[in-house]
Amino acid sequence: MSLADRETITRQIREAVDIIDLVGSSVSLRRAGSAFKGLCPFHEEKTPSFMVHPARQIFKCFGCGVGGDVFKFVQLRENVGFTEARRILAERAGIDLEPRPSSGPAGPGKTDLARACDWARRVFRKNYEGSGGEAARAYVAKRGISPEMVEAFGVGLAVDSYDSLLRQADLSGIDHKLLLAAGLVKESQRGGYYDTFRNRLMFPIVDTNGRVLGFGGRTLGEDPAKYLNTPATALFDKGTNLFGLDRARQAIAETGRAIVVEGYTDCIMAHQHGFFETVATLGTAMTDAHARLLRRFTDRVILLFDSDEAGQRAADRALAVTVGVGLDVSLTRVPEGKDPCDYLLSAGQTGFTGVLNQAIGALEFKWREVSRRYGVGATGPARRRAVEEYLHQLSAWLGQGAIDPIQTGLLINQLSQIVALPAEDLLQQLRKMSQRSRPSTAVKGAANGAQPGATLSQKGSNSQQEALRQIVEVLLNEPAYYAHVASWLKPEHVWDPALSAVVAEMVTILNSGRKLQVAELIGRFESPEYGRLITDLQDRGERRGQFATVIEGAMACLDAFERSRHAAVLADDIRRSRQQAGDQQVPQGEDERLRALTDAAKQSHFSPVRARKRLLDLP
Ligand SMILES: [Zn+2]
Repeated sequence: MSLADRETITRQIREAVDIIDLVGSSVSLRRAGSAFKGLCPFHEEKTPSFMVHPARQIFKCFGCGVGGDVFKFVQLRENVGFTEARRILAERAGIDLEPRPSSGPAGPGKTDLARACDWARRVFRKNYEGSGGEAARAYVAKRGISPEMVEAFGVGLAVDSYDSLLRQADLSGIDHKLLLAAGLVKESQRGGYYDTFRNRLMFPIVDTNGRVLGFGGRTLGEDPAKYLNTPATALFDKGTNLFGLDRARQAIAETGRAIVVEGYTDCIMAHQHGFFETVATLGTAMTDAHARLLRRFTDRVILLFDSDEAGQRAADRALAVTVGVGLDVSLTRVPEGKDPCDYLLSAGQTGFTGVLNQAIGALEFKWREVSRRYGVGATGPARRRAVEEYLHQLSAWLGQGAIDPIQTGLLINQLSQIVALPAEDLLQQLRKMSQRSRPSTAVKGAANGAQPGATLSQKGSNSQQEALRQIVEVLLNEPAYYAHVASWLKPEHVWDPALSAVVAEMVTILNSGRKLQVAELIGRFESPEYGRLITDLQDRGERRGQFATVIEGAMACLDAFERSRHAAVLADDIRRSRQQAGDQQVPQGEDERLRALTDAAKQSHFSPVRARKRLLDLP
């Protein structure tokens, strides 16, 4: 489907779902003037500060700051991404997300695939329990997995044959094409089919709705591929699913944390020892999708790794991903040479608890690794380089978005303790780095990347930036002023990548001659943080009022800024060319004039606030 089609459907959904209906079905709302008021569902409160505006089709909480359109409400309420929120609302509005294919035979749907996988799970179970399952049972016993866990996780067996599953399918009347689509069989070169999994211990991968999506299989023979997963199907993708989540979700919500291991047996063994909040990645490093999936249930994750180098690399990736998604991640390793499964068997619950307790925060973990590489206890230049590399890594994560201003503040304080440098210095270094990488992040942020406050620009401390912000605040309330400020409002002039992305989208809408609607603007961003940012801007503009005066003041400020910048550049040029010419004959008073010019340029002597005051304070 084309992007334009997607946008059309998104607009149809927005028009079909009324925000008062939507919010009203879970929050009791009372009319308050032109808006509705209720108790905020996103924070604890006794007096209502949660407002819903039917005309603008947006909501805003003046207690905790959340805000947005219908999509953002569902995202926050259900803790899901934009795509899922869109699907939920489409369903509610009775709108088809995908145009029905007009021709060609329809392949099996996801439900068919899940049914085929569930059937295969039962076959594998029977194989395991049957007379041919002796070796598999012996292996499981050797690994110390209890019969209860085998049952609970539905561990099965794919027998050592190229057509065992195919023959079973014939008996059950299941189409080979369906098995192919589910990844259970493969097409041979002669045109027939053969079983994907042979002589393997089978671990069904089940989603949180109880659907069997696919399998992980561990070889029971000498196959060099120790583990084999279901290939990517319409239903299964190893990068977006976690083994054991169906069984762990409740415990994750209850304990407030998720333990993430790499192997199927590690996960099962953790459950066997009472760590029911454990899940496993399917032999891949942790992905964005994994992190987002976990964040639906908790914001605390402990990553557990083997001690080998591969574990370290995986840890590094997991770190970037999870910090990017905004999870509180800590890392820990099982003692040298053991995998978690074996470690649990020898050290038991107490030993494992000890390992978990040793988990250190992702930031500190990374710092230890970097500083170790530069030499422990490094001082002077080595230490400085270590700090630099460390901050560089962090600024890359920050550039990827997902760290809001509050988190950034916490982060800086944490960093300052970890590397033992003043928070101010770190902030300054990070600022420099994130400014250097600004253009790319600003562009990326437009669709879904950067989040508000992602850079560490000095918000409000610069009059030019404040003027641009105030213009945005006015336009969100009175777009008609755009004609006056169009030449000033350039996304590339805005430092904050999130605000810059908002400006870029605003300008696109306004330049196309369409009406600027707050809800539509919010809908152009997937992250709920933009809902908060845009409703904040709109609200600030509305409260301040005096649109004409604010615009006038802001334009005066931007004009003054431009002039003084020009002056500074000019003065610099003159001085440099004079030096190059080796000119001793300085015209009288020129030095003074240049100095005055430069000084004027240094001061941001025009603040929109002051300009506005001046106008308002006139008797
Ligand atoms: Zn609230």
